[in-house]
Amino acid sequence: MTSIRSGHHKINFGGGPAALPREVFEQASQAVLEYEHSGLSILETSHRGKAFAAILDESRAIIKELCGLNEDHEVLWLHGGGRLQFCMIPMNFLGEGDTAGFVDSGHWAGQAAEYAMHYGGTNILSTSREDNYRHLPKWPKDVPGSLAYLHYTTNNTIYGTQYHDVPECNVPLIADMSSDIFSKRMAYNKCALFYAAAQKNIGPAGTTLVVIRRDMQERIVRTLPPMLSYKAQVASQSVLNTSPVFAIYTSLLMLRWMKEKGIDNIEQENRKKSELLYKELERNTMFAPVVDKAVDRSMMNACFRGMSDDVERSFVTLCEQHDITGIKGHRSVGGFRVSLYNAVTVEQVQLLVDLMREFEHNKK
Ligand SMILES: *Cc1c(COP(=O)(O)O)cnc(C)c1O
Repeated sequence: MTSIRSGHHKINFGGGPAALPREVFEQASQAVLEYEHSGLSILETSHRGKAFAAILDESRAIIKELCGLNEDHEVLWLHGGGRLQFCMIPMNFLGEGDTAGFVDSGHWAGQAAEYAMHYGGTNILSTSREDNYRHLPKWPKDVPGSLAYLHYTTNNTIYGTQYHDVPECNVPLIADMSSDIFSKRMAYNKCALFYAAAQKNIGPAGTTLVVIRRDMQERIVRTLPPMLSYKAQVASQSVLNTSPVFAIYTSLLMLRWMKEKGIDNIEQENRKKSELLYKELERNTMFAPVVDKAVDRSMMNACFRGMSDDVERSFVTLCEQHDITGIKGHRSVGGFRVSLYNAVTVEQVQLLVDLMREFEHNKK
């Protein structure tokens, strides 16, 4: 095996593209040189060949295992990121005279509703926009049974709030799980459709995981070009056009890593990492969490502020000196956002917490 220089690597707390485990980077690098003694790079591997069919099969099996799903759901790897799903969902399921419901819990949740307006009616059933999304909106009571579907975001990447579990719903429930899929046990099977852009918790940018309950194909309301139709994508099993083979393969490497670890261990670690950080944020006089209620706080994205602009500037500088990157908050929130995706380790979070303590000590 060609050796890969174990170069210097920063700690990436970025919101996405996110950190992946060292071994995933190594295995992906190796596959770029040669994929499993095939005499070809993974970059040259055909999306129509046996090797890729095996990659797809294994990925589907692991996804179903991690999410506790049976044959009722189909697994798709599509292009176009989270945003193309904001389009495809209403294109497929929202007729001109229909209305879809939305829980507006943050930027992405709001965007999903805005994209849907091009295709039919939208009903914002609940929102926390007036408080700049510092808490989760209440889960809507009395969801009208006439809605084509209800769309919500399980984890709000920018504002740092997260729902505990998938709620019951009397209309087809569609969930954007881009930033917390596979981070914990959830009732994934309650969703008629859920999706996740890969670059947060699954792998590199360039592919999006979509899991759709089979019967949803009968609810498609308009004729669409095949690339935009869930039915055509299911029929072609993710190889309608040239698939992003490398992005899907690297995602499979991450899926194997998660399977080996097990969802329960992953959840336990994520809980540990977020508790470690939030505890320090409660204690440290230089920082304060943005989300007031502890129950609403995300295990994946911890948002917080410094006590002054000077504190914020100098802490970013200190982190840079320690090769910690990606901690600046989204421009709509400011302050900091530390993303604790699956590949981020407890040790790395401990390092950040130690640095926060040191920072406070030196400022006093
Ligand atoms: C990042 C993100 C998106 C957007 O994904 P793109 O692939 O950039 O379109 C959508 N929803 C959530 C929850 C996200 O975190």
